[in-house]
Amino acid sequence: MIKIVGAMSVFGGLVFLGLGFIFIVAGGPDNMLIGAVCAGLGLLLFLVVYLMVRAEAKRPTLVTQNIQMSGAGEFREKAIQCPACGGSVADKDIKLIDGGLMLSCPFCGKVSALEEQPKW
Ligand SMILES: [Zn+2]
Repeated sequence: MIKIVGAMSVFGGLVFLGLGFIFIVAGGPDNMLIGAVCAGLGLLLFLVVYLMVRAEAKRPTLVTQNIQMSGAGEFREKAIQCPACGGSVADKDIKLIDGGLMLSCPFCGKVSALEEQPKW
């Protein structure tokens, strides 16, 4: 969420800086004023993003990453099963043969093609 807000703020800051630059280049006292205000707003947005990123960096983000990783691992374990006996097949029992993934079951010894691509 903070990344989306940050990206939008950076984009907004760039737009304001660009507008400010255009107005300043256009010249004239009024345009110079508008340009300065726009550039100021752009710099303000950049400052806000900087402060947000700095505040975010202080927080531990490892917790959410661990949850995502364990979730992906569970899904992968469910995805790879022996079609003959339904036993869960480990990564080491899966080999790439002729461009297709073949799994050799450690339980029943049956070699079969993997229909669903594993998520790695
Ligand atoms: Zn099996």
